[in-house]
Amino acid sequence: MARKVLVVGEVRDGVLRNVSFEAIAAAKTISEGGEVVVAILGENVQTLGEELIHYGADRVVAVENEKLATYTTDGYSQALLTVTQEENPEALVIGHTALGKDVSPKLAAKLDKGLISDVTALEVAGGNLVFTRPIYSGKAFEKKIMTDDFIFITIRPNNITPLEKDVNRTGDVTSLSVDVKDLRTVVKEVLRKATQGVDLSEAKVVIAGGRGVKSTEGFKPLQELADVLGGAVGASRGACDADYCDYSLQIGQTGKVVTPDLYIACGISGAIQHLAGMSNSKVIVAINKDPEANIFKVADYGIVGDLFEVVPLLTEELKKL
Ligand code: FAD
Repeated sequence: MARKVLVVGEVRDGVLRNVSFEAIAAAKTISEGGEVVVAILGENVQTLGEELIHYGADRVVAVENEKLATYTTDGYSQALLTVTQEENPEALVIGHTALGKDVSPKLAAKLDKGLISDVTALEVAGGNLVFTRPIYSGKAFEKKIMTDDFIFITIRPNNITPLEKDVNRTGDVTSLSVDVKDLRTVVKEVLRKATQGVDLSEAKVVIAGGRGVKSTEGFKPLQELADVLGGAVGASRGACDADYCDYSLQIGQTGKVVTPDLYIACGISGAIQHLAGMSNSKVIVAINKDPEANIFKVADYGIVGDLFEVVPLLTEELKKL
């Protein structure tokens, strides 16, 4: 059954986030040959439309309003409600990012529709669209179908492969001006922590350090390895609590959820709360001097050894490639 699917593209600092392209790929499966329309919200975002077309969107609607320049729950939910009512789609796809996690339940309530959140895979099976999502902090997966005639999902970043970029694809990019009123919160200023390099939640390679790293200095060899692999550095809560690094690096149940192609855990014991944030990574390498460490249970490759010897050796060898 062909469906019209509306995707919410996500923009940060004037750049489209990868999850937008992943959402288009998910929408293509859901559309079963129908139209995929992407809405991007903000101020002067229309210029980003072409890239979304290259990644498979049939049409892009740039929802413009100066009040959408920074995210607020009220502003975005109003604008998304307007664009959903204008477009009247049969399905809605949003990234399971900080933005998506915040706005989607509110939008689902306003639309009076069900929501399947944090989808990691989707397929057409037995005539149904089947959505896979983790439960119990990633210890199990459930498969769900939507019995409602309207499909609303959020997708976990880094799980659904975007379509191949095709610069020859063409499609309409139009602008929709929306009325945004009665904002209960207004963002006066955004003070962003200076982060260097690759965004942790979108990184294809994550080198994570735990209490075994022992100090802020101890993160240096991890950063060098991350630089060689084009990855980002993350951390366990143990390392954050010990003040070796900033909490923005924390991965786990109460931190970020990451699903990179390669996750290298250095000096991390593998507590269940940490595994909740990384056990879906495609390949997991653990470096720990304790052969009994729990992290080895989820690791594809385990290296029993001192991280301060193993990590620099890995970096040196990888530099030669
Ligand atoms: P440790 O458990 O102390 O492990 C350090 C490891 O380093 C050990 O296995 C040791 O063998 C190894 N090691 C030491 N030196 C070296 C060396 N030189 N070379 C190699 N290996 C070495 N934790 C998270 O990570 N994320 C969360 O989101 C999170 N949320 C939580 C929420 C709640 C409600 C609670 C109660 C806890 C949460 N925790 C979370 C904490 C979690 O339970 C663990 O305490 C924490 O993950 C431990 O961090 P760690 O593995 O770095 O430290």
